[in-house]
Amino acid sequence: MLSPREGVRALPSYHPPLAGRDGLRLDFNENTVGCSPRVLERLRQVGPEQLARYPEREPVEAGVADFLRVAAAELLLTNGLDEAIHLLCETYLEPGDEALIVVPTYSMYRIYMMAAGAQVIGVPAGEDFVFPGDDVCNRITPRTQLIAIANPNNPTGTVAPSDDLRRIARAAPDAAVLVDEAYFEFYGQTLLAARGELPNLFVGRTFSKAYGLAGLRMGVLIGDAEQLRAVRRVSSPYNVNAVALACLPEALSDQAYTERYVSEVCESRARLERTLDASGIQFWPSQANFVLARVGAAASFVACMRRRGILVRDRSSDHRCEGCVRITLGPRAHADRLLTALQETCEELGIAQGAPWR
Ligand code: PMP
Repeated sequence: MLSPREGVRALPSYHPPLAGRDGLRLDFNENTVGCSPRVLERLRQVGPEQLARYPEREPVEAGVADFLRVAAAELLLTNGLDEAIHLLCETYLEPGDEALIVVPTYSMYRIYMMAAGAQVIGVPAGEDFVFPGDDVCNRITPRTQLIAIANPNNPTGTVAPSDDLRRIARAAPDAAVLVDEAYFEFYGQTLLAARGELPNLFVGRTFSKAYGLAGLRMGVLIGDAEQLRAVRRVSSPYNVNAVALACLPEALSDQAYTERYVSEVCESRARLERTLDASGIQFWPSQANFVLARVGAAASFVACMRRRGILVRDRSSDHRCEGCVRITLGPRAHADRLLTALQETCEELGIAQGAPWR
């Protein structure tokens, strides 16, 4: 009888709650207002000829490489950052290999690693989700082939010191080390400059968050040119579609739009953090476009917010995230709606009683 590979049989299915997302979407860390108008203008110009042809990745890759100040040979455009993670697993992991992640973290690492047959080792974050640099180093063995670290991390918004990341890459010269910078724009610090000294380092970026293009699926993997040659062999030559390729240069050309969005989100993040602080609700200071907060009855909280038209994400089943929800930030008007719904929900559920809401 036909049977999937062993690694696939053991896989948990991952069904993000995407259905019926009516309301203000603060549940998936997306851009809440959408992409630059230049992208929409370009989309309107896409014609049958462009759709009839197979997509050509290289010219757009050259532009992205210029933008990131890396060589084109050091970069691969991918179908969302998810595909980059998948390709790294397919390129470097064999059944029985070990792959390291820090928990809690982004769910897809474990899934792609397991699918490749690897044994996934989740190193728990420290108190208050402090990055466990020493523990990660101590778990490296000759079987460690891949280490994936989100920086800033999802769902915590916390960051890893760059010295720790360098130390890990040096301690595991035979392993691929992915530093996933999906939320880079909201943080501003990158490990890209270290790639010259660390040939096993990969940096991942995405256009799904700050740029508002999650639906187009566009990510970037940057790494050593020789290593990327191997990764490219695994990838489809047509992994990124023609519409996404047409739009990407427009998105990149409108930096002012993205910068304005990012700065508004960072203001909203500070506002939410001040409100949570004043209300005595536990949260973890974030460097991303979301904040993790411990509200107690997370499912009731999510339902209550939903009734008020605001979608937030229940993260209570993540490691050490009991009672926690993750709330994405948007610009000021969206933060206004969020904070009103937050106050009403807390009053209804009896959370943070006596909080100075105003
Ligand atoms: N890495 C992290 C840390 C993420 O949070 C996400 C999206 N939730 C991704 C990767 C995947 O992003 P993309 O939409 O580019 O596949």
